[in-house]
Amino acid sequence: MPAVILKKSREIILERKHPWIFSGAIEKVDGNPANGETVQVLTSDKKLVGSGSFSSSSQIQVRMWSFNPKAEINPEFFRRKISAAFSLREKIINTSKTNAYRIINAESDRLPGLIVDRYADFIVCQFLSAGAEYFKNTITEILNDIFKPVGIYERSDSVVREKEGLNSATGSLKGNEPEELTEIVENDFKFLVNIKDGHKTGFYLDQRENRKLITDFSNGKQVLNCFSYTGGFSVYALASGAEKVTQIESSSSAIELSHKNIKMNDINPDQVESVNGDVFEVLRKFRDERKTFDLIILDPPKFAESSSQVRKAGRGYKDINLLAIKLLNPGGILFTFSCSGHISTELFRKIIADASLDSEREVKILNHLNQSSDHPVLTNFPEGLYLKGLICHVK
Ligand code: SAH
Repeated sequence: MPAVILKKSREIILERKHPWIFSGAIEKVDGNPANGETVQVLTSDKKLVGSGSFSSSSQIQVRMWSFNPKAEINPEFFRRKISAAFSLREKIINTSKTNAYRIINAESDRLPGLIVDRYADFIVCQFLSAGAEYFKNTITEILNDIFKPVGIYERSDSVVREKEGLNSATGSLKGNEPEELTEIVENDFKFLVNIKDGHKTGFYLDQRENRKLITDFSNGKQVLNCFSYTGGFSVYALASGAEKVTQIESSSSAIELSHKNIKMNDINPDQVESVNGDVFEVLRKFRDERKTFDLIILDPPKFAESSSQVRKAGRGYKDINLLAIKLLNPGGILFTFSCSGHISTELFRKIIADASLDSEREVKILNHLNQSSDHPVLTNFPEGLYLKGLICHVK
């Protein structure tokens, strides 16, 4: 088997059991591994420490499959890992109320680059690393065998594939192709999901637990849901007594689908007002019109794609949070999020603190939020924490 030998000075990374080995840590590559092929990982004095997948085009040259020197990376290995990830989800998801959740969360389930989501009877996968791509057929067969889904659909159309030298790939891998819309249940609410063309694998599953928290703050309230996508937070708020939800979203097809979702949950459509526009502009317009709200949700897309974009992203977060704070009635509640992995919790809190100072409104953080528990974070892989949220009380 081909092997990589690490530089003596960089062997510390193995002790931390972090799944990534960057090219700068590698002294030598023995053999001529193909993209995605399994390589043995050796210390500088040739001690075997485990195995990983080789990527010739990525800066992350090896992603560790296992730190067990004896592990063989074969179908049995993948079956064990997939079963372990699923049995964790069986413990944390009440499948009688929720049938859409993440089964495999890549690095944090020790399956680097592999995302597997369940949407009712369908399985949707993303193979985002050369190694995951290399074992695509094996993984698909195992998923089919364990879950016996109606179909397995691939959504490997994330930009991160490019860094791995992989082209975008989408389509049916097994069984039936999903219809244009698939019905799921989440905490007993119904949603239609576009598996083939929706964002990510179709739905923001990572916000499930935070959407549920909205129900505690919605009764009788005037709610503003910014970046509303297909109406996730809107449905939860209205179903738990919100008087009215105004939603702002730039994608007209997402708004259209949100209206279907609102209808599916027997909510009076007159309680929803949708604005198809840019949140940055619409919040300013609302400010000029002196509109006010009791509860505002800010769930923007990733503003920082890399560390070089952190400053600019910070200005974006500050801008929308400042505007939102000003639109809140005294005693109002702000649910504010950042899904940029490069923005730390601390920095995010600082941005909100700055927005509070500039708006001259006192803000208290009631709770810190993160991605839902089916998107766990392996302690060896802190990069896995990307979604941060704060529930704020605004005086
Ligand atoms: N809260 C949603 C997910 C939001 S994802 C849920 O629970 O499902 C972010 C959304 O913001 C996407 O739907 C995207 O189309 C939209 N968006 C991105 N930039 C925007 C902008 N400047 N103004 C309005 N919407 C925007």
